[in-house]
Amino acid sequence: MKTVFSPVQLTHDPKMEISDGKLKPAVEIPSRAEMVRSEILARKIGPLWTPQDFGRAPLERVHTGEYLDFLESFWSRWTGAGRQGEAFPFVWPVRQLRAAPTPSHIDGLLGRFSFDAGTPLGEHTWAAATASANSALTAARFLREGDRSAFALCRPPGHHAAADYFGGYCFLNNAAIAAQWLRDQGTARVAILDVDYHHGNGTQAIFYERADVMFLSIHADPKEEYPYFLGHADETGEKAGKGFTHNWPLPPGTDWTRYSEALEEACRWLTVYSPDVLIVSLGLDTYENDPISQFRFVPEDFLRLGARLARLGKPTLFVMEGGYAVDALGSNCVNVLEGFLGG
Ligand SMILES: [Zn+2]
Repeated sequence: MKTVFSPVQLTHDPKMEISDGKLKPAVEIPSRAEMVRSEILARKIGPLWTPQDFGRAPLERVHTGEYLDFLESFWSRWTGAGRQGEAFPFVWPVRQLRAAPTPSHIDGLLGRFSFDAGTPLGEHTWAAATASANSALTAARFLREGDRSAFALCRPPGHHAAADYFGGYCFLNNAAIAAQWLRDQGTARVAILDVDYHHGNGTQAIFYERADVMFLSIHADPKEEYPYFLGHADETGEKAGKGFTHNWPLPPGTDWTRYSEALEEACRWLTVYSPDVLIVSLGLDTYENDPISQFRFVPEDFLRLGARLARLGKPTLFVMEGGYAVDALGSNCVNVLEGFLGG
């Protein structure tokens, strides 16, 4: 299995984040990707590839031009306004407030194009996020060319980012960009299975009214856990997409036994839908020692997950999402890939 990764993805290097109601050290840090990369090489999963630059066109198929302009120009506007260091939004156009007309002030722009205060933007965020998206696109291209599987070592992650907002450490929705690109290349049906501990709110929002990209997510109940405002079981799609989104919100403390019941239900949907390509939004924060999560996966459970996904028998693109127990992240991630290859 080929892995795609660019060192440019390491240049987004946040120092702090707002979580638990205060400013704390950031957890979505470059060493996450370095741990996974070194484990890929140590366990000989396959060759490491540098992504091809797909340009802006595939990003615009998922994100709005206004949002991409904001991300691309952010740092010059931020420093041009006399600001220094990483940026946090603090005001949002919720409910009776208006998202349009778009503010011109940098703080208004930050709120317009985000949904949380836990995701700092820095000087290299745009470069790293586009490199991460290019890794997903390059891995998708390998599937188009006949590979049965590929791994996009995406970082920063993507599944919380929607068409016009960032959050949850995510800026560009790598899995959605890859899914849309595959559709545009002639792949008839794509399914995205999101196994990150957190609900993939951005991916769901992007494909919610569509039947050509199924979205399935198994995650911590949003009543108890981030992102709080999406990911309930009654969200099943709208319009043409009715019945093509399914969510399995699970309680804190969920272990493999409970999780695998939901996974079997998701696999049944995948068998019925029979996608031409399966994209796995691969979060490793279901791990029992993850510092921000409450599920109880042990390392062997990641092998089981990979083996179960292999039994679906579909061309499969793994796109990395979350996972913050940095020391164990590489081995847990590669366990999924190894389980898949041996399954
Ligand atoms: Zn997560």
